[in-house]
Amino acid sequence: MRYGIFSDVHSNLEALEAVLACFKKERIQSFVCLGDIVGYGPNPNEVVQRIIGLKKIQITAGNHDYAVSGLKELTWFNDFAARSIIWTKRHLKEENKNFLMRLPRLIDGSQFTLTHGSPRDPIDEYLLTPRQYLDNLEYFRTPICFIGHTHVPSIFYSDSLGMIQHKPLGDGEIFKCDSQAKTIVNVGSVGQPRDGDPRAACVIYDSEKFEIKCLRSSYDIHAVQDKMKQASLPLFLIERLSYGR
Ligand code: ZN
Repeated sequence: MRYGIFSDVHSNLEALEAVLACFKKERIQSFVCLGDIVGYGPNPNEVVQRIIGLKKIQITAGNHDYAVSGLKELTWFNDFAARSIIWTKRHLKEENKNFLMRLPRLIDGSQFTLTHGSPRDPIDEYLLTPRQYLDNLEYFRTPICFIGHTHVPSIFYSDSLGMIQHKPLGDGEIFKCDSQAKTIVNVGSVGQPRDGDPRAACVIYDSEKFEIKCLRSSYDIHAVQDKMKQASLPLFLIERLSYGR
């Protein structure tokens, strides 16, 4: 089975459509979304509805999803994020808030584990270092765990010599996972990449070949920025889309 896996859409409908078009081209029919569906961007309702409409999809919650549905306090967020969460709360329909509120923190599947931050701390941990990778190994039992949250596509694994590796994943890059070891794959962000590449990020996972492919898709960034300006969302959040930082 091949899965289209994505995270951190952050209310960016144009970026989501670009990623879904990429999945369609690759004939993907099963999807995974790792949270932060909303926050930052201008189209929270449309993005929630588009994701619900995918049907064959597994979804976990992100910190922004819980914040807009009242499950997480705003004191956890920096000023820009908090302002966008307040805006999103005001514009998000009640039915969509209820949907986000009910999302699970972690999905412990038969083939892979899914969560937003890390298996140890699903909503909040930014998994950035080899030490954190090691500490998280005891919190999941499948050969692969997919995460998001940092907005940087990358992979943590232990090589044939037992050395911990942390590697960024670039556009078109393919990585063969070891079915006998444990790999953590960060799929990056659809709607607000932070690795210097402004294009939307996603991953295709082939569960028969144990293979990950990272893909980037261009989208109309200016259209999103115009909508954010009209909504008076913070300038910093508008500008960073151009740079992917
Ligand atoms: Zn995020």
